[in-house]
Amino acid sequence: MNDNYENLFYNIKEPIVCETCFKEYETIQNPDIALRDYVRVDVGFTQIGIQIWCQRHNRNVCHIDFEGNRPAADFRSMEKK
Ligand SMILES: [Zn+2]
Repeated sequence: MNDNYENLFYNIKEPIVCETCFKEYETIQNPDIALRDYVRVDVGFTQIGIQIWCQRHNRNVCHIDFEGNRPAADFRSMEKK
């Protein structure tokens, strides 16, 4: 693990969202919440990797297969000042 703190800032370039949530959200006229607040997901390790699970629709959003590898992961977080 390197000491690159860049990884601890918001780096998301392409959010992963439930397709069904996204379609539902698009039909809402003048939504009073952002998509990121509308979507509710569980994220966790599985037998093969990491899964993102839609709580609203109780279905898989994305399941990343590590294919037996252990990718580097940074669990540190920046303290808000
Ligand atoms: Zn959903």
